[in-house]
Amino acid sequence: MSVSEQAITTLRNQLVDAGYWDLEENLKKNEPMNTHTSFRVGGPAEIYAEPTNLKEVIMLIQIAKSLEIPYYLMGNGSNIVVSDDGIDGIVIRLGEKFSSIWTETKDDDPDHVYIHAYAGALLSKVSSRAVKHELTGLEFASGIPGSIGGAVFMNAGAYGRDMSCVVDSALCITNEGETYVIEGHEFAYGYRSSRFMALGGIVMSVVLKLERGDPEVIQATIKDLAEKRNASQPLNFPSAGCMFKRPEGYYAGVLIEEAGLKGVSVGGAEVSEKHAGFVINKGGATATDIADLVKKIQATVKEKSGVSLETEVRFIGKGFSQPKEGYNPKTTGVELHKKAKKVVVIPEAKASTAPIAQPTKA
Ligand SMILES: Cc1cc2nc3c(=O)[nH]c(=O)nc-3n(C[C@H](O)[C@H](O)[C@H](O)COP(=O)(O)OP(=O)(O)OC[C@H]3O[C@@H](n4cnc5c(N)ncnc54)[C@H](O)[C@@H]3O)c2cc1C
Repeated sequence: MSVSEQAITTLRNQLVDAGYWDLEENLKKNEPMNTHTSFRVGGPAEIYAEPTNLKEVIMLIQIAKSLEIPYYLMGNGSNIVVSDDGIDGIVIRLGEKFSSIWTETKDDDPDHVYIHAYAGALLSKVSSRAVKHELTGLEFASGIPGSIGGAVFMNAGAYGRDMSCVVDSALCITNEGETYVIEGHEFAYGYRSSRFMALGGIVMSVVLKLERGDPEVIQATIKDLAEKRNASQPLNFPSAGCMFKRPEGYYAGVLIEEAGLKGVSVGGAEVSEKHAGFVINKGGATATDIADLVKKIQATVKEKSGVSLETEVRFIGKGFSQPKEGYNPKTTGVELHKKAKKVVVIPEAKASTAPIAQPTKA
């Protein structure tokens, strides 16, 4: 469903009227997505928006919804493949403009330090902040190239830990533009899944609860994990990390290797020789090459081992099955707020660096 020129003009006019500033820089038409995704593939987003604060996000989704323009949320684009034909509606990116990080201590909880981060903050930066404050618990995330919003949505994890171990709460917006604080235990986390996948909604900021640790041990752990990644993953090629979820009782990479698929390619997309769980862009790959290679891997592995591989990476845009997240007038059903409990009133954020609430700086 392509958005009409008239709807786009109305959207722009309403945003200007509502005080959405710097439209030229923050709202673009036909923005190529290959420059915003780690796979380096993807056609144009019909409208690409990088809001700079919470108020702008709320305005944007409320106006989009009133005009029945679908929108899709993205963070650092490290777990998505966007169709070569692009994506209809608005892609809302919470990136650098949404990357403030700060810490908070609580008198009644001296053993923990709370890190607050806006959704666009990179996990590597949040992890560095934890190191700076000698906090343990987030070492696993230091090498994951996503934003913290994307990591909460995906329940990203590595080396036996995931976001569910450290998230205390998150400030979220429903597709109606209402804001909620959701406690960590309400996230219904599973392996690489969270309630957001089923219920929609936008993670705006996250609070992590971390313990004080030994700085030398923390740094040694991060170094050790980085060495493991470098040794086992094809980090010199564009990819979206492991293509498939770990099937119960197996490792996807091992099944793919045993099926004789290492090095197999379709166009510029290839099963990595270094780690068969990675599909890489060897050069000039298209989203179609990646999708076709994924189908080939799934069929071969099913045939050889009887195991069905499910993609962890999300394929979005024209021709791919649209995930439920974001808002689509045609497909959106359940809403996040139906299960959320706590409502918060948000003060007007005037700049991207303005915290949602003024915490005690640690
Ligand atoms: C080299 C490499 C290594 C990787 N290693 C790992 C690993 O060890 N473990 C792991 O789990 N993953 C890994 N990944 C995958 C990826 O980095 C993670 O899934 C990451 O959490 C995705 O974050 P993102 O900001 O890039 O999300 P995006 O790719 O931008 O989006 C992913 C999904 O999250 C949704 N989303 C993004 N931001 C928000 C938000 N604020 N609110 C609501 N929904 C949102 C999007 O709609 C989309 O469905 C790796 C990727 C690469 C390229």
